[in-house]
Amino acid sequence: MGITGASHGGPDPGAMYKNIMEKTINLEISKKLEKKLGEQGAIVYMTRYDDYDLSVKNTNNRKRSDLSRRVNIINESKCDMYISIHLNADPSSTWQGIQVFYDDVNPENEKLAKVMQEVLGKNMNSKRKYKELTTIYLHRRVKQLGILIEAGFLSNPNDRYLLRQNTYQQKIVNSIYEGILKYWHLI
Ligand SMILES: [Zn+2]
Repeated sequence: MGITGASHGGPDPGAMYKNIMEKTINLEISKKLEKKLGEQGAIVYMTRYDDYDLSVKNTNNRKRSDLSRRVNIINESKCDMYISIHLNADPSSTWQGIQVFYDDVNPENEKLAKVMQEVLGKNMNSKRKYKELTTIYLHRRVKQLGILIEAGFLSNPNDRYLLRQNTYQQKIVNSIYEGILKYWHLI
């Protein structure tokens, strides 16, 4: 059915607050999402299962190599949907909440982003709006239906606390599952 992507990994921690790294929480959420979708009968692929990146050896652009391999994995998988899990960070600590981004490279992406933001906003108490972003390397190049979810802000004390809780991560995952069902009119 789909791919869940824990973004960053290995030498690329993503956003950070002291010793709390985005890559770690992305993977924890992605593993929970893999389990949830698998239990419901979906075939789920992960772009990574542990703390590593996907770059090829001896590349002079490790980040680009990592991303281009992710693009190939998703495009070649023929998956019905992919979900890219990230955490946000901002110089100001006031920004908070879960938010969905999409690239219009696939015309269906906006519809999925809209439905997903509605469900996540309601369940996770986020006032953020879904947003188009056409400058993200991976999302520009993937043909399949998919979105990027920024699950919260590591720079915000409340989000930072919640994002590290298993129960909160599970609530995000259950809500993503609900969003997927809603998008496909299964509930
Ligand atoms: Zn990220």
